[in-house]
Amino acid sequence: MISMRPLTDIKGIGEEKAVHFHDLGIRTVEDLVDYFPFRYEDNELRDLRDVKHEERITLEGKVHSEPSLRYFGKKKSRLTVRILVGRYLITAVMFNRAFLKKSFSLGQTVTVTGKWDQHRMTLTVFEVKFSPFNPEQTIEPVYHAGGKVTVKAIRKSIRTALNQYSEEIPEVLPPQIRAKYKLIPRTQAFEYIHFPNDRNELKHARRRFVYEELLLFQLKMQTFRKMERERTKGTAQKIPEDSVKEFMDELPFKLTDAQNRVVKEILKDLQKPYKMNRLLQGDVGSGKTVVAAISLYASFLAGYQGALMVPTEILAEQHFESLQGLLAPYGLSLELLTSSIKGKKRKEILERLANGEVDVLLGTHALIQEEVAFQKLGLVITDEQHRFGVEQRRILRQKGLNPDVLYMTATPIPRTLAISVFGDMDVSTIDEMPAGRKPIETYWAKPEMLERVLAFTKKELEKGRQAYVICPLIEESDKLDVQNAIDVHAQLQFALPDYKVGLMHGRLHSDEKEAVMESFSKNETQVLVSTTVVEVGVNVPNASVMIIYDAERFGLSQLHQLRGRVGRGEEQSFCILLADPKSEVGKERMQIMTETNDGFVLSQKDLELRGPGDFFGRKQSGMPEFKVADLIHDYRVLEIARQDAQALVESEAFWKDSQYHPLRKYLEDEGVLTGEKLD
Ligand code: ADP
Ligand code: MG
Repeated sequence: MISMRPLTDIKGIGEEKAVHFHDLGIRTVEDLVDYFPFRYEDNELRDLRDVKHEERITLEGKVHSEPSLRYFGKKKSRLTVRILVGRYLITAVMFNRAFLKKSFSLGQTVTVTGKWDQHRMTLTVFEVKFSPFNPEQTIEPVYHAGGKVTVKAIRKSIRTALNQYSEEIPEVLPPQIRAKYKLIPRTQAFEYIHFPNDRNELKHARRRFVYEELLLFQLKMQTFRKMERERTKGTAQKIPEDSVKEFMDELPFKLTDAQNRVVKEILKDLQKPYKMNRLLQGDVGSGKTVVAAISLYASFLAGYQGALMVPTEILAEQHFESLQGLLAPYGLSLELLTSSIKGKKRKEILERLANGEVDVLLGTHALIQEEVAFQKLGLVITDEQHRFGVEQRRILRQKGLNPDVLYMTATPIPRTLAISVFGDMDVSTIDEMPAGRKPIETYWAKPEMLERVLAFTKKELEKGRQAYVICPLIEESDKLDVQNAIDVHAQLQFALPDYKVGLMHGRLHSDEKEAVMESFSKNETQVLVSTTVVEVGVNVPNASVMIIYDAERFGLSQLHQLRGRVGRGEEQSFCILLADPKSEVGKERMQIMTETNDGFVLSQKDLELRGPGDFFGRKQSGMPEFKVADLIHDYRVLEIARQDAQALVESEAFWKDSQYHPLRKYLEDEGVLTGEKLD
């Protein structure tokens, strides 16, 4: 087993060398062959006519002049030699390699790699080979070297290791999976990844390792999922489907196909005897609330209580109103529990909840942490879960509760991330908007165009519409030159004397916030200057203008969320991004906002521009790190691996047959089978 062999088992590596390799984290023969190149250099021969200025190229030619050597000071030198490459006579320059002078002889064929200066017909040489170009070595792997270990030493040791021990490299993928996807054997893949003869071999090696890596990852996730299901007995809710269908038919609108599909997925989960653990993602305005309502109603009919938790109290109140409207007519009793509900009223709600008289409880995410006791909790729905999820699950479990859980999010997560970060969850996606929506028109304006933006806003206000104005900060800050809500509020009050301009930010008390919001939703306030507290969920259909100051400071997903506050009514809505980004990426981000209204496209773009690590913000990243696979480019493989992993762990053969032994052993080594990672 190469995993047990110390490096010193490799010919040419003694104790001393082994220590240097340890510094790179390489301790065993397995570690060494697992040490993959981070890039490859392409040394194909090029025709000089096609080469661009400053490109890195490899040329083959004949030495055409005696080399000339010049010294600068003691150690610095410049070695120049003329080389005839095809019809061209070029100059090859080598710095500080005086020792090479003797190696050149007239008429000899050499291969040189370096940076091309088109104007001087000169190559600054990185590497010389005193032999004709070898087409077998066109692709050169480059490794992260360090300390006393050079790239060359790594290459050489890996070569020896593969020669000595390739027989001992274990295959982990079962034969029929390898056959199905035409994946090359593991031993061969190691050979190709370290010593590819051409791009094609490299491609096959990569293909194999990407699949292997993603399959192992998904096996872990799917095993978690299976074990979690098996160890926590959920409830098989008995849902009278006809009554649910009636409810759906009586809604004031026809559900979209996507809504129908996700409702079906959720109801199916509720009826199964395991705990639902499902992420429902759908863009702003795609109609998640009604899906929540249907689910709560179904659970109610089955005899269970439900809870809906949201990030802010404003949102809790808004949801309360919409759900009340949908569910109260069907005899459900709903209650709202926020921090402003205190004393006797609070006590009474809690009592009725414990008695089972309250059917649906709404509140903020803090709800779950408090001393709230349900009589028979069957379904928990949380909105904007990706900020709170894991913690909540743990709390629920600690309380001995095993309700079905639905996490709703309006921040569309690229599917690759959804199924990797939330790999142990099921994902439902509403990828369709209710018919008849007018897409929001988005413009990007430089700050100096503010006058025009305000004139435009005034026109909308004259038509009876309302406007949001978002600023990144509350108060002026010395450090950051960003617009702040308090200043902007003062400015706009002055600029728009005929309208009432409100101010909203996180430091207001909850009753103050409530008053500001209420005034805006009743159109007593026409313009609302706010920080991002209005980001999620707030619904004022008459608002048709969204102005975002310093828009370059926000992520694409957040801008999209903010934009989603408008476009909720019949009228054409507008979003204006005031921004002066300095970087190309910043400009690209503003540009893409003006080009698409599709949250999934934006989130994918966000992922590409910012990278997976940044996507969820630093604090909550939890992104798995992959060695070969790349979540942006290999997402299709990720999906396939997920399906395969799911099928495997659900099959009996997987847990018995010897061909799956290496995969089971992997799960065991990762501590998955003991269940310790579930908490
Ligand atoms: P979100 O997914 O952002 O939470 P909401 O649930 O708030 O979206 O829905 C946005 C608006 O669309 C609400 O006014 C809702 O009543 C309406 N709506 C939801 N589904 C449909 C539909 N199928 N057809 C028409 N309007 C719908
Ligand atoms: Mg919503």
